[in-house]
Amino acid sequence: MKSIKPGRGPSMMNAIGSAAAAIFGVIWTLSAISMGAPIFFALFGVVFVLMGIGQAIYNYKNATGENRFSEYDITSSSEESDPLNDYFGRSRQDSSHISQSNETPADGEGKRFCPYCGSEVEPQYLYCSKCGKKLP
Ligand SMILES: [Zn+2]
Repeated sequence: MKSIKPGRGPSMMNAIGSAAAAIFGVIWTLSAISMGAPIFFALFGVVFVLMGIGQAIYNYKNATGENRFSEYDITSSSEESDPLNDYFGRSRQDSSHISQSNETPADGEGKRFCPYCGSEVEPQYLYCSKCGKKLP
């Protein structure tokens, strides 16, 4: 697994920006209370402050810490397969199979049938190409 880590410069900028947002949230909350605004507005400011502080800590750690948080993890399919590949990657599996079809050995050997819909499926298929159910 490889990781993409955020740069120290952008992290520092984000930390400063988040701290500014938190300060803005404090001013927002105080002014909302002093103006007698509904409590909802004050609570919104408090949430804004907490999020700003959290972001500031996270980004400051990434800017200064030795082990930065990963922004993205790059995994190969052998390390962690994509769960949606079973659904959206099926057509690609089919087309890659067509190019190999001339290597198929004698008829009858290794023939399989889908137990759900009864259609013939290739032995190396994990999913039925007709009804899409997982094969045993
Ligand atoms: Zn089927």
